[in-house]
Amino acid sequence: MLENKAQIFIVDDSPININFLGSALEDDYDIRASTSGKDALLFLEENTPDLILLDVMMPNMDGYQLIKKIKNNNKYINIPVIFVTSLDDSSSELKGFKLGAVDYITKPISPELVKIRIKNHLLLKQQHQQIFKQHTLFESVFEAISDGVIVYDEENRVTAINSNMTNLWGNIIDTDGVVGKLIQDVFTDDLLPVIDHDKEDIRALSRYIMEPLTVSTVDGIIALDDEKYYHYFGAPLEREDVTQGGVLCFKDLSKEINLQKSLEDMAIRDELTSLYNRRYFNTIAEREMFNSKRYGTMLGVLMVDIDYFKKVNDTWGHSIGDAVLVAVAKTMNEQIRNVDFCFRYGGEEFIILLPNITESGLIDAGKRIMRNIKMLKIEKDIQVTVSIGGSSTESLSSNDRDTMDNVVNLADDALYSAKGNGRDRMYLAGNNQAIINN
Ligand code: GH3
Ligand code: MG
Ligand code: MG
Repeated sequence: MLENKAQIFIVDDSPININFLGSALEDDYDIRASTSGKDALLFLEENTPDLILLDVMMPNMDGYQLIKKIKNNNKYINIPVIFVTSLDDSSSELKGFKLGAVDYITKPISPELVKIRIKNHLLLKQQHQQIFKQHTLFESVFEAISDGVIVYDEENRVTAINSNMTNLWGNIIDTDGVVGKLIQDVFTDDLLPVIDHDKEDIRALSRYIMEPLTVSTVDGIIALDDEKYYHYFGAPLEREDVTQGGVLCFKDLSKEINLQKSLEDMAIRDELTSLYNRRYFNTIAEREMFNSKRYGTMLGVLMVDIDYFKKVNDTWGHSIGDAVLVAVAKTMNEQIRNVDFCFRYGGEEFIILLPNITESGLIDAGKRIMRNIKMLKIEKDIQVTVSIGGSSTESLSSNDRDTMDNVVNLADDALYSAKGNGRDRMYLAGNNQAIINN
């Protein structure tokens, strides 16, 4: 069938030559012809032959001039051109090749040889097209992958990187200049500590990057900062048991992990003050009690209650009361150490856990809190004071079971004394001396 035959376009000023070539090829190919460069260009505007047989010597526009025009036009650039000419000197041949011909056949012509050469070039062209198609397919798949992907060869040199990889890492590494670099030089030592959270996941990734071809697959999550989390997956690429290099993929999980973190955070915090809530107190208290026993350290407790808070609400309204609670909570949180925990225990009552503290440390903390809250001028210049009851694991008598409940009860009793003896003061369990802030 004609349409299945490859189309060969012969350009030669001599109709005799065209006939000669044409009759040799017409059984196998769809033959078209022009007798001048000008006609040839007109033909090419409407047709895309599979191959062109081109004479060199022609009046007006010779074969060299015509091939220049063909190779300068993107539409025709991939059509293989074979010169068929009586110019058999090597400089003419060289010129033909330099101008982009794929072959150069000199006269006298052996039809068999021309046929073989045409067949070979058409095959080559077909293979090129196949490879190009596969490459284009690979590239579009590579780009369509929602992960950031970086591929490297068996010498650990980066061979490809997709634009999602650039999106994920572009701010951290120079993804433009990455192809050809060693994967170790892309994720360098000075980069890894930045993302290091001292977790097994980051160590596994680091090991993988240092020796990607000795480690099989890796899989984990790294934190780039407090808000950015990437899942990574690395694997060797193997064909018939021979490693061809490997691939490293990253997926941005920040949204999911931050959502999860904020849900977890919501579950342990008080909505109004953002302090930890009473439920979380139970978790932390148990853990800190355990640590206190295990390491033989003192665990301190401060119960803090705002004085005459009801009056604030009654005078200024509930929302101003809320603002006072927020300000008091913030001040307390600022006055404790990083290792301490402050909880909203009830309405205007707070509890602070102070692990590994001394009695004087506990007193200092209480005084600091009293002083700084008293100095607060909240909306409408409202000033409040707090009363504090302090206790610790050391306050327990030999009759008491060393439970958190007992320590908290002792702090509650001390708070009761502070309230009963004038407020704006602190009492320590087992000590009826008021601690007044100064
Ligand atoms: P005392 O010095 O004896 O502690 O007196 P007080 O008025 O502070 O104590 P009381 O227990 O009588 O009153 C506490 C008030 O705190 C009553 C309650 O309406 C108010 N309260 C509890 N939770 C909130 C809250 O979330 N927002 C506001 N605005 N008020 C609250
Ligand atoms: Mg109160
Ligand atoms: Mg109260």
